[in-house]
Amino acid sequence: MCGIVGYIGHREAYPIVTKGLRRLEYRGYDSAGVMLYNEKGINLCKTKGKVSDLEKKAKAELDTKGTIGIGHTRWATHGVPNDVNSHPHLSNSGNLAIIHNGIIENYAPLKEELKNRGYTFKSDTDTEVLVNLIEEIQKTEKTKLGKAVQIALNQVVGAYAIAVFDIKNPEEIVAARLGSPLAIGIGENEYFIASDATPFIEYTSNAVYLEDGEMANIRLHKPIKIRKIKDDSLVTPTVQELQLNLEQIEKGGYDHFMMKEIYEQPNVIKDTYRGRLNANKGIVQMAGIEDNIEKFLNAERILIVACGTSWHAGLVAEYVIEEFARIPVEVEYASEFRYRNPIINKKDVVIAISQSGETADTMAAIKLAKENGAFVFGVCNVVGSSISRESHAGAYTHAGPEIGVASTKAFTTQITVLTMLALRLAKAKGTLSNSDYHRYLMELEIIPEKVKEVLSTNDITKEIALKFKDSTNCLYLGRGYNFPVALEGALKLKEISYIHAEGYPAAEMKHGPIALIDEQMPVIVIAPKQGHYDKIVSNIQEIKSRSGKIIAVVTKGDTQVRELSDYVIEIPETSDALSPLITTIPLQLLSYHIAVLRGCNVDQPRNLAKSVTVE
Ligand code: GLU
Repeated sequence: MCGIVGYIGHREAYPIVTKGLRRLEYRGYDSAGVMLYNEKGINLCKTKGKVSDLEKKAKAELDTKGTIGIGHTRWATHGVPNDVNSHPHLSNSGNLAIIHNGIIENYAPLKEELKNRGYTFKSDTDTEVLVNLIEEIQKTEKTKLGKAVQIALNQVVGAYAIAVFDIKNPEEIVAARLGSPLAIGIGENEYFIASDATPFIEYTSNAVYLEDGEMANIRLHKPIKIRKIKDDSLVTPTVQELQLNLEQIEKGGYDHFMMKEIYEQPNVIKDTYRGRLNANKGIVQMAGIEDNIEKFLNAERILIVACGTSWHAGLVAEYVIEEFARIPVEVEYASEFRYRNPIINKKDVVIAISQSGETADTMAAIKLAKENGAFVFGVCNVVGSSISRESHAGAYTHAGPEIGVASTKAFTTQITVLTMLALRLAKAKGTLSNSDYHRYLMELEIIPEKVKEVLSTNDITKEIALKFKDSTNCLYLGRGYNFPVALEGALKLKEISYIHAEGYPAAEMKHGPIALIDEQMPVIVIAPKQGHYDKIVSNIQEIKSRSGKIIAVVTKGDTQVRELSDYVIEIPETSDALSPLITTIPLQLLSYHIAVLRGCNVDQPRNLAKSVTVE
């Protein structure tokens, strides 16, 4: 799940590589390292900690000269985060350097074999095994780096995006990918390699994305050569023009990316439905659906596969698709689905949701669905990502880069896409009355304004955060459409503030969690006027009778819940089915403020990474 960066060209590599690593830190940040090459040879600097720690260490001890370099920011899978386990790793001779994102699953037998041949290992990583395997193949087969990498990768089981450098041929970097993303930026007499395009957008807007199972020889003053790792066949590179700009990936005056992204929601929800939704004309359409509408209409059921926050968006989609379009929906954790021998029929439509479009388990679930003949529809944010390419069709969320590790705008834009899908299917099937259909379209169109209004509760939310920042537990309750929002609210709090939190359907409280309630327990109740209001009022009474502290998200003007609650956050009135787009906003703000007040690193919470490319 790490970030990798490489540069070969005419500029100094060090600033490009380290700046690029900072942009990729969302992918992993437990250690970092860089290798540069100049006339004195290979210069290496690695450290536990963040890229800023690496820069401090490099200032003191690294010769930063050189126009070729590779760097890595790690999310450890094999071996604790320490200096030695950090990448780049060198081969035993010191001639080869590698950076690697992924897991070499069969590293143990390969390591044994290499040990028998006299190799020694400094680190506990799987990556050091791979670089020595490449070296051993270079020796025994007497081949150049590219061929040796290819032979080695054909012996490897697992996932990787790698960049390898050989001191004997210092005008080349060899890169390859399987299961982890890798982009190559093409400039004038220079190349960039990175896990995504953000490290090189100020230098070039031309990029080639390697496909799974491909490798590239990237040589100075020569065109890149791409081939298939398996059969050596040449692939013509497809150069894409990047749509990213620098502003999109910087904080724009906010203290944290998470806050910037929370505040971007009114605009990005608009971007999500732009050109797809026209309430006045009664139109909702998305290319990926229009071209495949029969698949959806003939579907006996829709299966949604996702992980984390995307799974919560999937739960909202279950409610909205079943209610609007009357097609049965099942929502699965991709990691469970792929390993539990599920029943998949040819008439199933599988919707795969992933912000990054690189989530390893979701990717594997897609492959399984395709093998069984199902139609796969991807909902991703990152354009050109693996899941978007692997799906038969799909819809992008157009939320722009999400850098904060805790997902915010990805969630609301996923719900926007999935709600539009439900409305489109309802229209085709005639399962919603004309007036309801038009009402929902109108409402969806003004959701960005309502989100803006909710954002103005930021100060109140901050005050509430002050009261509860020292809590050790927290309960989130919601019913119907707002049950997944409760789950998502609890997840947000857990991941960035490290407070234990649980999300529950409010009525389930009586079946267990109610035992936890005392005067120390904050209970966040999502209680808008629409939906099961009376029921949730009763649940709130039950909490109050046990002295729990109630923080309620209520519809503007509400009096009944206000009377029972310790704190309320008001939101504009919205119909039940669209309410998750609104009710989730105060919960994002609350988690954010609690985490900041606790001194947590909001954008880079411990142990997490943005794009989960390992299973
Ligand atoms: N498996 C490698 C390691 O643990 C790479 C992990 C990553 O993708 O950051 O060092």
